[in-house]
Amino acid sequence: MSNFEKNLEQALINAKRLTNKILIDGKLISAQTNNKIPVLNPSTGENIGSAPQCDKNDVNIAVESAHKAFQKWKKIPARERGKMVAAGARRLEERKSEIQTLLSLDTGNALRTQAIPETGASIELTNMFAGLSGELKGENYPTNIPNSIHYTTRDPIGVVCAIVPWNAPLFLTVAKIAPAIVAGNSVVLKTAEQAPFCALLLSEIFQQELPPGVLNVISGYGEECGEPLVTHEKVRKVTFTGSFTVGKIIAQKAAPKLCPVTLELGGKNPNIIMSDADLDIAIQGVIDGMRYTRQGQACTAGSRIYIQEKIYDKVLDGAFEKLSKLKMGNALDENSDIGAIISEEQLQRTLHYMDIAKKNSTTKVVYGGNQPSGDDYKNGFFYEPTLMSGVPVNSPVCQEEIFGPVACAIPFKTFDEVMSSANDTPFGLSAVLWTQNLSRALQFVEEIEAGFVQ
Ligand code: NAD
Repeated sequence: MSNFEKNLEQALINAKRLTNKILIDGKLISAQTNNKIPVLNPSTGENIGSAPQCDKNDVNIAVESAHKAFQKWKKIPARERGKMVAAGARRLEERKSEIQTLLSLDTGNALRTQAIPETGASIELTNMFAGLSGELKGENYPTNIPNSIHYTTRDPIGVVCAIVPWNAPLFLTVAKIAPAIVAGNSVVLKTAEQAPFCALLLSEIFQQELPPGVLNVISGYGEECGEPLVTHEKVRKVTFTGSFTVGKIIAQKAAPKLCPVTLELGGKNPNIIMSDADLDIAIQGVIDGMRYTRQGQACTAGSRIYIQEKIYDKVLDGAFEKLSKLKMGNALDENSDIGAIISEEQLQRTLHYMDIAKKNSTTKVVYGGNQPSGDDYKNGFFYEPTLMSGVPVNSPVCQEEIFGPVACAIPFKTFDEVMSSANDTPFGLSAVLWTQNLSRALQFVEEIEAGFVQ
């Protein structure tokens, strides 16, 4: 059996075992609902199982389980909770081969370039949060009232609702559940309908070191399952990662009960190369930064690639050379650098934006621009890594989040000009500048309107 066949077999066994299951009170069980969401392998379009299409009945069961567990969990000392979370991380480490193959099968993200690193980073993050259990400190304040102490403590809030997207479903799951649990909360996680299995497997393994009910996992669609979870009266905090549009809905739905909400949303991020940059590093940097090896499906993908005029042609030539070396194929094949887009719907989204770009007379496709042909790509959701020049900056292609493997190169003359264009967007997630001028880099950090700057 080849490595590819072994990986596929291992992942399919887990997908079958987790089909139609949710995690409640420490056990994998069938949901109340009989409705099911089919789950496809993005690399082949084949059905690999299904996830329960939970509605408010299953939401109620999950929240009750979490609420009951919270009453005891909140009383366990924080450092004891941290030890249990660290033990959970060790279990994940022991079973990482299963987790990473299922992640790759579920999402279409290439095993070697994406699923293996994402799994490793998720375990590392779990350990980091376990270590922070000793840092749940309050403060005290000087008082002018004799014989009194004024101090704050950090207390758990209750049941936390965590909603994740499909593009990095393990890392985003851990980033939500680990800190919430270490801090003494219990959690109901709603997985993404397109990639429900890997987050369920991770949770099943991880929660074996926790009291039952501290972590519960359900699956379903946004309106039918996500909304009753967000609005449930016993949910005291909402943490959401996903699109700008859904983030707005969630903030509105949670507002009437004055529930704190954390939103991590989309981006249309600038990746800027100044003419003084070391081009050997910077050209590879924009290819990596565009997350072509995750089919561009990353919130921080640098999809607006600004290049100073003097080096414009040289950068495009270098990018062409590097893109032509990337191998696209079945995500579970370790020879693949690039896997498949998550779904037909997301593939159509890429095709829609490419249609707009191609209709524009000044567009030049520097690399890619097509669906690949051949048996390897026949039924999967594949699109070539694509770089274009000449797309007007005000085109939807340069303004809206495509969340596919499509980037635009945009020339500029001066730093001031590029800053004004880079900041001219409703997003503000991340930004990158390539330069060897440290003063310029510091000026960039100050002036760019982005939360995460490199
Ligand atoms: P999405 O907003 O469509 O869905 C995200 C999750 O929200 C899914 O689980 C979905 O079922 C749920 N949902 C949808 N409607 C809902 C509703 N009305 N109420 C409650 N839940 C609802 O996003 P997506 O297509 O799954 O993911 C892609 C988006 O996520 C992109 O915009 C990307 O930039 C963003 N993202 C952001 C980050 C970050 O850290 N900032 C990381 C990854 C992805």
